[in-house]
Order: sequence, then C-alpha cells, then structure tokens
Amino acid sequence: MKVDNISVTVFSYKTSLVNDTDGHTHPGPEHDTDMAMLSIESDDGLKGFCFGSPQALRPYLLENYIKKVFVGEDPLRFEKLWQSLARWQRGSGGQLSDKTIAIAEMALLDLVGKKLNIPLWKLLGGFRDEVPAYGSTMCGDELKGGLSSPDDYGDFALKLIKQGYKAIKLHTWMPPVSWAPNVKMDIKACAAVREAVGEDFPLMLDANHWYSRTEAFELGKAIQELGYYWYEEPMDEHSSSSYKWLADNLDIPILGPEYAEGKFHTRAEWISNGICDIARTGTMDVGGIIPSIKITHLAEAFNMDCEIHGGGAGNLAVLGAISNARWYERGLLHPFIDYNVPPAYLHKIIDPMNNGMIRMPDLPGLGEDINFDYIKINAIKKY
Ligand code: MG
Repeated sequence: MKVDNISVTVFSYKTSLVNDTDGHTHPGPEHDTDMAMLSIESDDGLKGFCFGSPQALRPYLLENYIKKVFVGEDPLRFEKLWQSLARWQRGSGGQLSDKTIAIAEMALLDLVGKKLNIPLWKLLGGFRDEVPAYGSTMCGDELKGGLSSPDDYGDFALKLIKQGYKAIKLHTWMPPVSWAPNVKMDIKACAAVREAVGEDFPLMLDANHWYSRTEAFELGKAIQELGYYWYEEPMDEHSSSSYKWLADNLDIPILGPEYAEGKFHTRAEWISNGICDIARTGTMDVGGIIPSIKITHLAEAFNMDCEIHGGGAGNLAVLGAISNARWYERGLLHPFIDYNVPPAYLHKIIDPMNNGMIRMPDLPGLGEDINFDYIKINAIKKY
C-alpha cells in the first residue's frame, strides 16, 4: 500500500460564526465562507480526508511539503512520515505550521483506519467508548441576551445543565470587547455561574490570555475560593516562569500549555518543572493525533491528567484511545447558536451528546460522515 495521489478541494458553505480581531468566534449574520478538504489516496483506491482552513492547505504547502514527504510511501508507517514532515518545519522559514502538519497527519491516519477498517480511537488504544462532555462557552461579547453580563453567563449555565452537560468552562471577556479585559467582571461572571449551578458542579475558567501576574493571581484566588476545578491560560504561555510562579502561589490546578509552540518538548518542560498541574494538548496545537497521544502518555507517567483542547474528530480519537483525560471539550457554545446542527459538508456532527456523554464513532478512521455531494457541487477550486 502506497500513497499515490494527494489533492485539496476548496468549497464554500454558509455559517453564522464570525471571528473578531483577536481571532475569537462569535455569533453574527449568516454569510458564505471557505473550507478546504485534504484527500490522501492510496494505490488500492482508498482515501483519507481531513478538513482545514484553505490557508493551512494552500498549494505551496501541498506541493513543497505534504506531497514530497507522503507520495510513494506506505501510510502504515505514519510515525516515520510524521517525523519527516515535522523535522522539515524548522527549515521551512515559518511556512509549515503545526496546524498544517496536523491536518496532513490526520488525513493520513484516516486512510490507515479505513485500510484496517477500524476507528482510530480503537486502533490507538481503545481505552473507552464514551466520554463526558463539558460545555465550553464562546468568549464574552456585548450582545444583549448573549454573553454580555455575569447574569447572561449564569442563565446560560442553567440552559447547559438542562441540555445534559456534566461540567462547564467559561471563556470570559477579551478585547475587542470595549471594556475588556477586566478581572473584576471575570470574577463576577464566575460567581454568577457558581451561584446558578450549585456548589458541587464542576466549573473551569479560560481567562484573557494576556493578564499580568498580579491580575492572574487575583482572578485565580477568587475562582479558587469559588471551588473552580481548573484555571487555564490567564497569561502569555511563552513565559513559563510566570506560570511556575502562579502554580506555586495558588492551590487551584493550573492547566497548560495550550498554545505554546514546541509540541511534546514544551509539555515535557512544563510537566517536569511543576509549571502545570494538569497538562494540555490538542491535535491542531501540536501537529496531530500521534504527538497528542505521546503527550498524554508523558503526563500519565507523572500521574498527571492531560486534558484535550477543543472538540472534533481528531481530539475525540485521542480521548477514546487514552485513560488520563476526564472531559471532551464541546463547543464553542453560545445562547444564539445551535451547536447540534451539522455544517452543510457533513451528514452529521461527530459529537452528538446523550445524557452528557459523547460516544466514540463507529465509522473507520476519523469517523466523519462527509457529504461528498455537497462538496462537489459547492467546490470553488481543486489542486
Ligand atoms: Mg483554552
């Protein structure tokens, strides 16, 4: 079995999500946007797929890196192929991102799963066939009845509990919200949600990522007293000594790093130096499923949980494979958005929730149920 054809299809679909100037997602007017689908085909006619932004799958990256590493190779040697692509990152002049490596790796693994006719979560460990979900809110906004006030967060938390969520994580206000960031308002939102859900319900906070040490400490101390379960990314993660200081000064578990570059190397430093209490990985942050599995196993060797950043097929596969993560991050959620409606290019979402639990997919590979007819009809370009 050898890879013999790799292509990208860019297509349009309708969305009601808009990104602000910090890159965070909010509800907005419905509009057309683009998505890209990477297809990796083997010489026996099987295909693996993964979705990504058209920018992460632009022709230059496809021709100069992904095709050069994968074409003619056996996809079952995915560790070798991942290493070859990841090692090329240093010399790529900043072109080859962890996201591009992740999309390429996941399409390759999707092909492997289809060849062996097995879902990836089972192939890579098969630890569990379901996982509890936490509802992960969008960042705060200035939309009336949305997430514009502490009471909005409290009201939304009650709705999420009715939907079955077993835990809730708040993303509070960040720029470009006119008055954000604001530690006092973050504390009020966290208190309103605690008041709404009762004292035993698990809550987490993902705060403004650019607070100073003293701001991060003030907020962390407050949510520690409110019985929050973890505290995530209140400061720039490139300063690991700031996080060491924060972890040493607070009792609440510090979770991270999420966004810091360096894949498993960075996570190893954070874990071994006591910088975090709960480790963090996400397929799009560290170059895919395989490096994420390595990071969870690394954390396991230190008796540490490693929570998974974001939802989607790849992250769900990691959760099904390993033992030391407690939650699936379902979202991002907002009172104005129905998360359960699949985008037009999928027949169904990968993570339907039943009584707060997400079942692992039955389909082979990543388990996505793709609407190929829609993608064909709405294709903008193929290369
Ligand atoms: Mg986060």
